[in-house]
Amino acid sequence: MSDDGLKKIISHAKEYGFVFPSSEIYDGLSAAYDYGQLGSELKNNIKQYWWTAMVRMNENIVGIDAAIFMHPTTWKASGHVDAFNDPLIDNKDSKKRYRADVLIEEHIAKIEAKIQKDVTKAAKRFEDAFDEAQFRDTNPQVLRRQGEIDDINARFKAAMDADDLAAVKTLIEDLGITCPVSGSGNWTDVRQFNLMFKTELGAVSGDSGVVYLRPETAQGIFVNYLNVQKSGRMKLPFGIAQIGKAFRNEIIARQFIFRMREFEQMEMQFFIKPGTQEEWYNHWKEARIKWHKALGLGEENYRFHDHVKLAHYADAACDIEFNFPMGFKELEGIHSRTDFDLKQHEEFSNKKLRYFDPETQESYVPYVLETSIGLDRMFLAVLSSALREETLEDGSERTVMAIPFALAPVKAAVLPLIKKDGLPEKAREVLAQLQLHHNVQYDEKDAIGRRYRRQDAIGTPLCITVDHDTLNDHAVTVRNRDTMQQERIAIADLNAYVDGLVSMASLFQA
Ligand code: ATP
Repeated sequence: MSDDGLKKIISHAKEYGFVFPSSEIYDGLSAAYDYGQLGSELKNNIKQYWWTAMVRMNENIVGIDAAIFMHPTTWKASGHVDAFNDPLIDNKDSKKRYRADVLIEEHIAKIEAKIQKDVTKAAKRFEDAFDEAQFRDTNPQVLRRQGEIDDINARFKAAMDADDLAAVKTLIEDLGITCPVSGSGNWTDVRQFNLMFKTELGAVSGDSGVVYLRPETAQGIFVNYLNVQKSGRMKLPFGIAQIGKAFRNEIIARQFIFRMREFEQMEMQFFIKPGTQEEWYNHWKEARIKWHKALGLGEENYRFHDHVKLAHYADAACDIEFNFPMGFKELEGIHSRTDFDLKQHEEFSNKKLRYFDPETQESYVPYVLETSIGLDRMFLAVLSSALREETLEDGSERTVMAIPFALAPVKAAVLPLIKKDGLPEKAREVLAQLQLHHNVQYDEKDAIGRRYRRQDAIGTPLCITVDHDTLNDHAVTVRNRDTMQQERIAIADLNAYVDGLVSMASLFQA
């Protein structure tokens, strides 16, 4: 899918009440969006899927809900005041602003695409005899291109490590990177820009009243490490999970809900014994990719991407990337954060943040493994892989959102075949029976075919039709969104039938 694909998703999301531009009657606010009546349901379901997998299914993981405002020293200790910057650069001709690191990454992606083309071509030529690993290791052209990528990565890392922004600019110039709008390579110097939003607390003005909107939820977990460990009598290894809003003054916020200035994160910090980080890093990589794949959005749509330039706190890090309409992009980060955060908070707060290990009788600062996923990006991943146009056997077309059943905003629609003969009353009885367990809609307007189409377009897995026979046989016809097969189900068995298909539990039974 292309940018065109993204446009289709944006307009479908708006038309059906998933996502609206923020304060649209005032022409919107850039990089802020509102979730509508169906979007908020889908978002809640994604949260529930994550919370169940992390908190409910793990005896040693608990959840918290920390405040967005935190003591400002938190952000000194975490490094955000001094180092939560993005390098920005402007094109003097188009006056467009870019992230310098993104320009370089996109240049690398173009070289990677060329390598991929070479591989695909060779695979076609050699057919069954093709050995991709060997080809990548020996083909001179691929090796030259890979060397080019390694060289760019090394130069970029060295420049950033040395805080040498002039070298970043030289790299952009040497690579011949031009502005996609003006086509020119007439760049300003590279500058650092801090991404935290600042505001003032109460009536105090000046520096003493400054507070920040949190740029990540993780620090709310670190500062509560001891509170949770002691009050919950937690033993290492254990985790603390949290879902909440985060704010970043992104330099460029484009691509719909992929990069916003106000967004939501689902983060989990797993506290472990120093020295076991590699084992837990691999454990969480595997657990998280399994969580994603269980949704059935297509295994080929995920890949791991190892970080070249590690953040100041990390000793290993990777992203789970998803094949969004704009290509493979970061969906979730998995970071081995060492004892960096807790040590920093010890130093800045003068409080001990240790763990007393009853087995070894030692006291130490735990290491931390983090999994961090953007809820809005997950929402976009679901939406973009779900939306499709289908031509049916009879030649007619339908727009269907093949959202995984368990995540669908509306699980079932109850439809009386016609608006009289006691069918609406019977349908409302069926509705009441399901309502307590699932989000269910009632619809009696228009012909049944049109009602099916409306439900397909919002991703409702089941349409339950009440017809004249229902009054005698106490059964209903259930149509499956994906197969479009219809089945006659007794009303007495309906709750169990619906449950079996749409409950969250089905995602954990793979
Ligand atoms: P990127 O490189 O795309 O800016 P990041 O590496 O800064 O992301 P992290 O700090 O690791 O992101 O944040 C964890 C997760 O939070 C990301 O994987 C992403 O899903 C989500 N996220 C980060 N920034 C945004 C944003 N501006 N809008 C929406 N989601 C975001």
